[in-house]
Amino acid sequence: MKIENYVRDIQGFPKEGILFKDITPLLNDPIATKKCLSILVDSLKGQKIDKVVGAESRGFFFGILLAQELNAGFVPVRKPKKLPYEIISASYELEYGTDTLEMHTDAIKKGDRVLIHDDVLATGGTAKAVCELVEKLGGEIVQCNFLMELTFLNGRQKINEHPIFAAITY
Ligand code: AMP
Repeated sequence: MKIENYVRDIQGFPKEGILFKDITPLLNDPIATKKCLSILVDSLKGQKIDKVVGAESRGFFFGILLAQELNAGFVPVRKPKKLPYEIISASYELEYGTDTLEMHTDAIKKGDRVLIHDDVLATGGTAKAVCELVEKLGGEIVQCNFLMELTFLNGRQKINEHPIFAAITY
């Protein structure tokens, strides 16, 4: 089975010029989902993980599955004004302007071994902001992993001080 066969390309979504990688066919198939999860878990080679941090919102799907599989806690990183408790925030640049991500201050303890997960590594802005949040709380980033990496956007340059793994590369 090839998990890339379960990713659907949608041209021009959410706006013109973007080739959107739709993972709903993958999520819709339990065998493809399990295969993808095992590829991500195997890439860690048995390393201990205390917390899996998933980026809103498509990083939540496999983020929670990974946390369960690794016996780790799950931490949601969310867009502004979604989290109810005390937060820290990190901003990152978009094509036009900036965006901000937030995380609860008690989500990670100093020295926690952290896996960061998102569906797509594109320009790397999101992943970099998530790394900043984890490091602000003293977490140790073991790996940043993704279902897909769009290599032509060079996102890994923004987070290249950490190990990076992607199940599919384009
Ligand atoms: P970036 O910050 O540029 O690395 O973008 C990563 C975030 O944007 C991820 O959370 C993805 O869900 C989303 N994203 C970026 N490009 C795409 C794409 N071509 N298809 C689907 N999602 C994308």
